[in-house]
Amino acid sequence: MKPLILKSFLLSKFHGLFHGVSTKIANPNEFNFDLGNFNHLNLEKNLEHRKFFFNLFGIDYKSVVLQRQIHSTIYTFVDSPGIVDGNDAIVTNRRGLYLVVTIADCIPILFYDYKNQIVGAIHAGWRGTADQILIKTMDYAIQSLKIDVKTTYFYFGPSICKDCFEVDEDVAVKFESKYVRKKGKKFLVNLPRINLDYLTQCGFDKEKIQISRLCTYEMKNLFHSYRRDKQNSGRMFAIIGIKDE
Ligand SMILES: [Zn+2]
Repeated sequence: MKPLILKSFLLSKFHGLFHGVSTKIANPNEFNFDLGNFNHLNLEKNLEHRKFFFNLFGIDYKSVVLQRQIHSTIYTFVDSPGIVDGNDAIVTNRRGLYLVVTIADCIPILFYDYKNQIVGAIHAGWRGTADQILIKTMDYAIQSLKIDVKTTYFYFGPSICKDCFEVDEDVAVKFESKYVRKKGKKFLVNLPRINLDYLTQCGFDKEKIQISRLCTYEMKNLFHSYRRDKQNSGRMFAIIGIKDE
């Protein structure tokens, strides 16, 4: 069995770009492949898995940027590897630097401006979506980094889908009613759709945005899901970087 890494067909056409999302079968010798978050007890095992994962693509672990995510709207421009603490979006123009979002239900949003050679990796769960981390990061990227809305491509990786993301009223009211459906006493919120609309509001081209239809909550053989597995849930990585060659 080959390791399974998911790719966006839109981003795949750029040969100078590396991107992908890990799955539970990213390592053929170990089902339930878990890249771990920072709270996990088994840090040594996580580190081993991370090194294995990046090695699959010839990426040195020392050229990776990780984020200690806190469901905030904090974004950071990075130009060196390491861990960015208390942060949920990273952007770079540096070749050979690989940006990571850690996920288990939240949406990993990867982007690439091929004209300006800028990449980014954004973590958008319900809090980040309600607080508009995507708009804030893209406003910054447009105004300060001069990314071009016409030459920027996006990939939303697998996340919990609009039929599975169930919340109580206190969370549902944070979103416009057109994104919310009632289900008995609960509510369903369409987080990918909200983030898609954020991008078109910013002026990005819908044709250059790919949204994965795979649901982390439903597809338990492929994905970790925090909703489903609670504290025992593992983590996947979504990664993007401009190759150094
Ligand atoms: Zn679902």
